[in-house]
Amino acid sequence: MDENVLHEINSNIRAYISEYHIMNYFGIYEVLDTEISVDLMIDRAIIALNRIKGSHSEEICYFSDEHRDELLYEQRIIADFKAAIEHREFEMYLQPQIDCSDNCIVGAEALVRWKPPGKGIVRPDAFVPILEKNGLVTEMDRHMWRLACEQILEWKKTYDKWYSISVNISTRDFFFCDVYDIVVSLVEEYKIPPSSLKLEVTESAFANDRGKMVELIKRLREYGFIIEMDDFGSGYSSLNMLKDLDVNILKLDMRFFENSEDQERSRAIIRAVIKLAEELKLPIIAEGVEKQADIDFLHESGCRIIQGYFYGKPMQVKEYEEMLKRQIYKEII
Ligand code: C2E
Ligand code: CA
Ligand code: CA
Repeated sequence: MDENVLHEINSNIRAYISEYHIMNYFGIYEVLDTEISVDLMIDRAIIALNRIKGSHSEEICYFSDEHRDELLYEQRIIADFKAAIEHREFEMYLQPQIDCSDNCIVGAEALVRWKPPGKGIVRPDAFVPILEKNGLVTEMDRHMWRLACEQILEWKKTYDKWYSISVNISTRDFFFCDVYDIVVSLVEEYKIPPSSLKLEVTESAFANDRGKMVELIKRLREYGFIIEMDDFGSGYSSLNMLKDLDVNILKLDMRFFENSEDQERSRAIIRAVIKLAEELKLPIIAEGVEKQADIDFLHESGCRIIQGYFYGKPMQVKEYEEMLKRQIYKEII
Protein backbone atom coordinates (compact mmCIF):
# COMPACT_ATOMS: atom_id res chain seq x y z
CA MET A 1 0.00 0.00 0.00
CA ASP A 2 1.43 3.33 -0.81
CA GLU A 3 1.57 6.35 1.48
CA ASN A 4 -0.89 8.25 -0.75
CA VAL A 5 -3.61 5.66 -0.25
CA LEU A 6 -3.04 5.77 3.48
CA HIS A 7 -3.22 9.55 3.45
CA GLU A 8 -6.45 9.45 1.41
CA ILE A 9 -8.13 7.04 3.85
CA ASN A 10 -7.03 9.04 6.88
CA SER A 11 -8.21 12.37 5.53
CA ASN A 12 -11.58 10.98 4.48
CA ILE A 13 -12.23 9.51 7.89
CA ARG A 14 -11.11 12.72 9.58
CA ALA A 15 -13.51 14.73 7.39
CA TYR A 16 -16.46 12.75 8.75
CA ILE A 17 -15.48 12.46 12.40
CA SER A 18 -13.77 15.65 13.34
CA GLU A 19 -13.68 15.36 17.15
CA TYR A 20 -11.93 11.99 17.30
CA HIS A 21 -8.32 11.17 16.67
CA ILE A 22 -8.36 8.06 14.53
CA MET A 23 -5.30 5.85 14.20
CA ASN A 24 -5.21 3.54 11.20
CA TYR A 25 -2.94 0.52 11.09
CA PHE A 26 -2.45 -1.78 8.15
CA GLY A 27 -1.07 -5.30 8.25
CA ILE A 28 -0.35 -6.52 4.77
CA TYR A 29 0.35 -9.92 3.33
CA GLU A 30 1.58 -9.70 -0.22
CA VAL A 31 0.26 -12.72 -2.13
CA LEU A 32 3.12 -14.28 -4.06
CA ASP A 33 2.03 -17.84 -3.55
CA THR A 34 -1.56 -18.33 -4.68
CA GLU A 35 -1.55 -21.94 -3.45
CA ILE A 36 -2.09 -20.98 0.19
CA SER A 37 -5.59 -20.60 1.64
CA VAL A 38 -7.34 -17.25 2.12
CA ASP A 39 -7.52 -17.96 5.88
CA LEU A 40 -3.76 -18.29 6.04
CA MET A 41 -3.32 -15.07 4.06
CA ILE A 42 -5.58 -13.26 6.53
CA ASP A 43 -3.71 -14.79 9.49
CA ARG A 44 -0.44 -13.48 8.10
CA ALA A 45 -1.85 -10.01 7.54
CA ILE A 46 -3.07 -10.06 11.17
CA ILE A 47 0.38 -11.12 12.38
CA ALA A 48 1.89 -8.16 10.53
CA LEU A 49 -0.81 -5.90 11.99
CA ASN A 50 -0.08 -7.07 15.53
CA ARG A 51 3.56 -6.01 15.14
CA ILE A 52 2.58 -2.36 14.90
CA LYS A 53 -0.42 -2.12 17.22
CA GLY A 54 0.29 0.46 19.89
CA SER A 55 3.24 1.89 18.00
CA HIS A 56 3.00 5.57 17.22
CA SER A 57 5.75 5.57 14.65
CA GLU A 58 4.51 2.95 12.18
CA GLU A 59 1.22 2.60 10.36
CA ILE A 60 1.94 -0.09 7.81
CA CYS A 61 3.65 -3.43 8.26
CA TYR A 62 4.25 -6.13 5.66
CA PHE A 63 4.39 -9.78 6.65
CA SER A 64 7.99 -10.88 6.18
CA ASP A 65 10.21 -13.95 6.46
CA GLU A 66 11.31 -12.70 9.84
CA HIS A 67 7.69 -12.78 11.05
CA ARG A 68 7.32 -16.28 9.67
CA ASP A 69 10.44 -17.46 11.57
CA GLU A 70 9.23 -15.85 14.79
CA LEU A 71 5.87 -17.48 14.33
CA LEU A 72 7.43 -20.91 13.78
CA TYR A 73 9.63 -20.43 16.84
CA GLU A 74 6.59 -19.48 18.93
CA GLN A 75 4.65 -22.47 17.68
CA ARG A 76 7.54 -24.77 18.56
CA ILE A 77 7.77 -23.38 22.11
CA ILE A 78 4.04 -23.88 22.62
CA ALA A 79 4.14 -27.38 21.18
CA ASP A 80 7.10 -28.43 23.38
CA PHE A 81 5.76 -26.82 26.53
CA LYS A 82 3.38 -29.55 27.78
CA ALA A 83 6.01 -32.28 27.51
CA ALA A 84 8.54 -30.00 29.17
CA ILE A 85 6.32 -29.61 32.24
CA GLU A 86 5.63 -33.36 32.37
CA HIS A 87 9.31 -34.29 32.05
CA ARG A 88 10.39 -31.65 34.56
CA GLU A 89 12.59 -29.84 32.04
CA PHE A 90 12.14 -26.52 33.86
CA GLU A 91 14.79 -26.13 36.51
CA MET A 92 14.95 -23.61 39.32
CA TYR A 93 18.17 -21.60 39.39
CA LEU A 94 18.89 -19.36 42.36
CA GLN A 95 20.59 -15.99 42.40
CA PRO A 96 21.89 -14.91 45.83
CA GLN A 97 21.02 -11.59 47.45
CA ILE A 98 23.88 -10.29 49.56
CA ASP A 99 24.26 -7.60 52.23
CA CYS A 100 27.36 -5.79 50.95
CA SER A 101 28.18 -4.39 54.41
CA ASP A 102 28.85 -7.81 56.00
CA ASN A 103 28.70 -10.30 53.09
CA CYS A 104 25.74 -12.15 54.62
CA ILE A 105 23.27 -13.92 52.33
CA VAL A 106 19.76 -12.55 52.82
CA GLY A 107 17.86 -14.68 50.30
CA ALA A 108 17.74 -15.80 46.69
CA GLU A 109 15.55 -15.27 43.65
CA ALA A 110 14.25 -18.31 41.76
CA LEU A 111 14.83 -17.93 38.02
CA VAL A 112 13.60 -20.52 35.57
CA ARG A 113 15.89 -22.35 33.14
CA TRP A 114 14.56 -24.65 30.45
CA LYS A 115 16.71 -27.69 29.73
CA PRO A 116 15.36 -29.62 26.74
CA PRO A 117 17.06 -33.04 26.47
CA GLY A 118 20.14 -33.00 24.26
CA LYS A 119 20.07 -29.22 23.88
CA GLY A 120 21.59 -26.29 25.70
CA ILE A 121 19.94 -24.24 28.45
CA VAL A 122 17.20 -21.89 27.26
CA ARG A 123 17.10 -18.53 29.07
CA PRO A 124 13.71 -17.15 30.17
CA ASP A 125 13.81 -14.18 27.82
CA ALA A 126 13.56 -16.65 24.93
CA PHE A 127 10.34 -18.30 26.11
CA VAL A 128 8.66 -16.54 29.08
CA PRO A 129 7.21 -13.71 26.91
CA ILE A 130 5.77 -16.35 24.52
CA LEU A 131 4.23 -18.32 27.39
CA GLU A 132 2.84 -15.06 28.75
CA LYS A 133 1.28 -14.17 25.43
CA ASN A 134 -0.39 -17.55 25.20
CA GLY A 135 -1.55 -17.86 28.79
CA LEU A 136 0.78 -20.81 29.50
CA VAL A 137 3.06 -18.96 31.90
CA THR A 138 0.71 -19.70 34.78
CA GLU A 139 1.34 -23.42 34.51
CA MET A 140 5.09 -22.83 34.47
CA ASP A 141 4.94 -20.43 37.40
CA ARG A 142 2.87 -22.83 39.48
CA HIS A 143 5.55 -25.44 38.79
CA MET A 144 8.28 -22.98 39.89
CA TRP A 145 6.40 -22.00 43.06
CA ARG A 146 6.09 -25.69 43.91
CA LEU A 147 9.82 -26.28 43.30
CA ALA A 148 10.59 -23.35 45.63
CA CYS A 149 8.33 -24.73 48.38
CA GLU A 150 9.85 -28.23 48.01
CA GLN A 151 13.33 -26.71 48.34
CA ILE A 152 12.47 -24.58 51.38
CA LEU A 153 11.12 -27.67 53.15
CA GLU A 154 14.15 -29.74 52.16
CA TRP A 155 16.53 -27.12 53.59
CA LYS A 156 14.54 -27.11 56.82
CA LYS A 157 14.97 -30.89 57.05
CA THR A 158 18.69 -30.76 56.18
CA TYR A 159 19.87 -27.61 57.95
CA ASP A 160 17.01 -27.08 60.43
CA LYS A 161 16.62 -23.56 59.09
CA TRP A 162 14.01 -21.69 57.07
CA TYR A 163 15.89 -20.23 54.11
CA SER A 164 13.64 -18.06 51.97
CA ILE A 165 13.22 -17.99 48.18
CA SER A 166 11.67 -15.16 46.11
CA VAL A 167 9.51 -16.31 43.21
CA ASN A 168 8.28 -14.38 40.20
CA ILE A 169 4.59 -13.82 39.64
CA SER A 170 3.81 -12.87 36.08
CA THR A 171 1.18 -10.19 35.53
CA ARG A 172 -0.68 -12.76 33.43
CA ASP A 173 -0.95 -15.10 36.44
CA PHE A 174 -3.38 -12.68 38.04
CA PHE A 175 -5.76 -13.12 35.08
CA PHE A 176 -5.44 -16.84 34.65
CA CYS A 177 -5.44 -18.22 38.16
CA ASP A 178 -6.30 -17.44 41.74
CA VAL A 179 -2.82 -16.55 42.95
CA TYR A 180 -3.97 -16.28 46.57
CA ASP A 181 -5.54 -19.76 46.68
CA ILE A 182 -2.57 -21.36 44.97
CA VAL A 183 0.21 -19.91 47.11
CA VAL A 184 -1.78 -20.44 50.32
CA SER A 185 -2.48 -24.08 49.46
CA LEU A 186 1.18 -24.62 48.56
CA VAL A 187 2.57 -23.30 51.85
CA GLU A 188 -0.07 -25.31 53.72
CA GLU A 189 0.72 -28.48 51.79
CA TYR A 190 4.45 -28.16 52.50
CA LYS A 191 3.90 -26.70 55.98
CA ILE A 192 6.37 -23.88 55.43
CA PRO A 193 6.05 -20.34 56.86
CA PRO A 194 4.48 -18.03 54.23
CA SER A 195 7.25 -15.50 54.88
CA SER A 196 9.78 -17.95 53.40
CA LEU A 197 8.10 -17.82 49.97
CA LYS A 198 8.58 -14.21 48.92
CA LEU A 199 6.41 -13.00 46.06
CA GLU A 200 7.82 -10.71 43.36
CA VAL A 201 5.25 -8.68 41.46
CA THR A 202 5.73 -5.97 38.84
CA GLU A 203 3.77 -2.77 38.62
CA SER A 204 2.15 -3.73 35.31
CA ALA A 205 -0.03 -6.08 37.40
CA PHE A 206 -1.72 -2.98 38.76
CA ALA A 207 -2.45 -1.36 35.43
CA ASN A 208 -5.80 -3.01 34.82
CA ASP A 209 -7.74 -3.32 38.03
CA ARG A 210 -5.80 -1.51 40.68
CA GLY A 211 -8.51 -1.84 43.35
CA LYS A 212 -8.61 -5.61 43.01
CA MET A 213 -4.80 -5.86 43.14
CA VAL A 214 -4.50 -3.63 46.20
CA GLU A 215 -7.02 -5.87 47.96
CA LEU A 216 -5.20 -9.04 46.88
CA ILE A 217 -1.82 -7.77 48.09
CA LYS A 218 -3.42 -6.82 51.41
CA ARG A 219 -4.84 -10.35 51.83
CA LEU A 220 -1.50 -11.96 50.91
CA ARG A 221 0.30 -9.78 53.45
CA GLU A 222 -2.26 -10.51 56.14
CA TYR A 223 -1.66 -14.20 55.55
CA GLY A 224 2.06 -13.62 56.14
CA PHE A 225 3.58 -13.45 52.65
CA ILE A 226 6.28 -10.90 51.91
CA ILE A 227 5.68 -8.88 48.75
CA GLU A 228 8.54 -7.50 46.67
CA MET A 229 7.97 -4.85 44.02
CA ASP A 230 10.13 -6.01 41.10
CA ASP A 231 11.78 -3.70 38.54
CA PHE A 232 10.92 -0.64 40.60
CA GLY A 233 11.48 2.56 38.64
CA SER A 234 11.13 0.96 35.21
CA GLY A 235 7.48 1.89 34.62
CA TYR A 236 5.65 5.12 34.20
CA SER A 237 3.66 5.07 37.38
CA SER A 238 6.05 3.72 40.01
CA LEU A 239 5.65 6.59 42.43
CA ASN A 240 1.92 6.89 42.04
CA MET A 241 1.55 3.18 42.62
CA LEU A 242 3.51 3.24 45.88
CA LYS A 243 0.83 5.49 47.30
CA ASP A 244 -1.78 2.69 47.37
CA LEU A 245 0.32 -0.36 47.45
CA ASP A 246 1.46 -1.94 50.64
CA VAL A 247 4.58 -3.87 49.59
CA ASN A 248 7.41 -4.98 51.91
CA ILE A 249 10.48 -4.62 49.71
CA LEU A 250 11.47 -2.60 46.63
CA LYS A 251 13.72 -4.07 43.95
CA LEU A 252 15.50 -1.33 42.10
CA ASP A 253 15.35 -1.93 38.36
CA MET A 254 18.64 -3.13 36.86
CA ARG A 255 18.44 -0.70 33.95
CA PHE A 256 19.75 2.00 36.33
CA PHE A 257 23.08 0.17 36.32
CA GLU A 258 23.44 -0.22 32.59
CA ASN A 259 26.28 1.79 31.11
CA SER A 260 24.90 5.18 30.38
CA GLU A 261 26.38 8.29 28.86
CA ASP A 262 25.43 10.31 31.87
CA GLN A 263 26.28 8.24 34.93
CA GLU A 264 25.76 11.16 37.33
CA ARG A 265 22.17 11.49 36.17
CA SER A 266 21.46 7.77 36.82
CA ARG A 267 23.12 8.04 40.19
CA ALA A 268 21.05 11.08 41.17
CA ILE A 269 17.89 9.08 40.43
CA ILE A 270 19.15 6.03 42.35
CA ARG A 271 19.96 8.21 45.38
CA ALA A 272 16.47 9.72 45.25
CA VAL A 273 14.82 6.28 45.08
CA ILE A 274 16.92 5.04 48.02
CA LYS A 275 15.89 8.11 50.02
CA LEU A 276 12.25 7.49 49.16
CA ALA A 277 12.51 3.86 50.30
CA GLU A 278 14.10 5.05 53.53
CA GLU A 279 11.24 7.51 54.15
CA LEU A 280 8.73 4.73 53.54
CA LYS A 281 10.79 2.39 55.76
CA LEU A 282 11.06 -0.15 52.95
CA PRO A 283 14.19 -2.23 52.45
CA ILE A 284 15.55 -1.90 48.94
CA ILE A 285 17.41 -4.48 46.82
CA ALA A 286 19.57 -3.27 43.93
CA GLU A 287 19.43 -5.67 40.99
CA GLY A 288 21.88 -6.19 38.15
CA VAL A 289 24.96 -4.84 39.91
CA GLU A 290 28.17 -6.01 38.29
CA LYS A 291 30.86 -3.53 39.32
CA GLN A 292 32.68 -2.79 42.56
CA ALA A 293 32.26 0.93 41.87
CA ASP A 294 28.47 0.53 41.85
CA ILE A 295 28.56 -1.49 45.09
CA ASP A 296 30.60 1.29 46.74
CA PHE A 297 28.22 3.93 45.46
CA LEU A 298 25.13 2.00 46.68
CA HIS A 299 26.67 1.36 50.09
CA GLU A 300 27.49 5.05 50.53
CA SER A 301 23.98 5.98 49.42
CA GLY A 302 22.33 3.67 51.97
CA CYS A 303 21.43 0.60 49.89
CA ARG A 304 23.13 -2.50 51.20
CA ILE A 305 21.29 -5.42 49.62
CA ILE A 306 22.62 -6.42 46.23
CA GLN A 307 21.56 -9.03 43.69
CA GLY A 308 23.85 -9.08 40.70
CA TYR A 309 26.60 -10.85 38.80
CA PHE A 310 29.16 -9.17 41.07
CA TYR A 311 28.14 -11.58 43.86
CA GLY A 312 26.87 -14.44 41.74
CA LYS A 313 24.99 -15.33 38.59
CA PRO A 314 21.84 -17.47 38.86
CA MET A 315 23.16 -20.91 39.84
CA GLN A 316 22.03 -24.46 40.43
CA VAL A 317 20.68 -25.27 43.88
CA LYS A 318 23.78 -27.32 44.80
CA GLU A 319 26.05 -24.36 44.12
CA TYR A 320 23.84 -22.02 46.18
CA GLU A 321 23.98 -24.54 49.03
CA GLU A 322 27.78 -24.32 48.93
CA MET A 323 27.43 -20.56 49.42
CA LEU A 324 25.05 -21.12 52.32
CA LYS A 325 27.68 -23.32 53.97
CA ARG A 326 30.41 -20.68 53.55
CA GLN A 327 28.51 -17.50 54.36
CA ILE A 328 26.24 -16.41 57.18
CA TYR A 329 22.53 -16.21 56.38
CA LYS A 330 20.19 -13.58 57.83
CA GLU A 331 16.73 -12.25 57.02
CA ILE A 332 16.15 -8.60 56.11
CA ILE A 333 12.59 -8.52 57.40
P1 C2E B 1 13.79 -10.44 36.58
O1 C2E B 1 12.70 -11.01 37.43
O2 C2E B 1 13.98 -8.97 36.65
O3 C2E B 1 15.11 -11.22 36.98
C1 C2E B 1 16.37 -10.66 37.00
C2 C2E B 1 17.14 -10.96 35.73
O4 C2E B 1 18.34 -10.19 35.75
C3 C2E B 1 17.59 -12.41 35.62
O5 C2E B 1 17.60 -12.74 34.24
C4 C2E B 1 19.03 -12.35 36.12
O6 C2E B 1 19.84 -13.38 35.64
C5 C2E B 1 19.44 -11.02 35.54
N1 C2E B 1 20.58 -10.44 36.28
C6 C2E B 1 20.80 -10.44 37.61
N2 C2E B 1 21.93 -9.81 37.93
C7 C2E B 1 22.47 -9.37 36.76
C8 C2E B 1 23.66 -8.62 36.42
O7 C2E B 1 24.45 -8.23 37.27
N3 C2E B 1 23.85 -8.34 35.11
C9 C2E B 1 22.97 -8.75 34.14
N4 C2E B 1 23.26 -8.43 32.88
N5 C2E B 1 21.85 -9.46 34.41
C10 C2E B 1 21.61 -9.76 35.72
P2 C2E B 1 16.94 -14.07 33.70
O8 C2E B 1 17.14 -15.20 34.67
O9 C2E B 1 17.40 -14.25 32.30
O10 C2E B 1 15.40 -13.70 33.73
C11 C2E B 1 14.89 -12.69 32.92
C12 C2E B 1 13.45 -12.41 33.25
O11 C2E B 1 12.61 -13.53 32.95
C13 C2E B 1 13.22 -12.14 34.73
O12 C2E B 1 13.55 -10.82 35.03
C14 C2E B 1 11.72 -12.41 34.83
O13 C2E B 1 10.98 -11.31 34.35
C15 C2E B 1 11.55 -13.56 33.88
N6 C2E B 1 11.57 -14.81 34.65
C16 C2E B 1 12.62 -15.56 35.06
N7 C2E B 1 12.19 -16.64 35.77
C17 C2E B 1 10.83 -16.54 35.80
C18 C2E B 1 9.79 -17.35 36.38
O14 C2E B 1 10.01 -18.39 37.02
N8 C2E B 1 8.51 -16.91 36.20
C19 C2E B 1 8.20 -15.76 35.50
N9 C2E B 1 6.93 -15.40 35.38
N10 C2E B 1 9.14 -14.99 34.96
C20 C2E B 1 10.45 -15.37 35.11
CA1 CA C 1 12.12 -10.90 39.48
CA1 CA D 1 13.86 -7.51 38.31
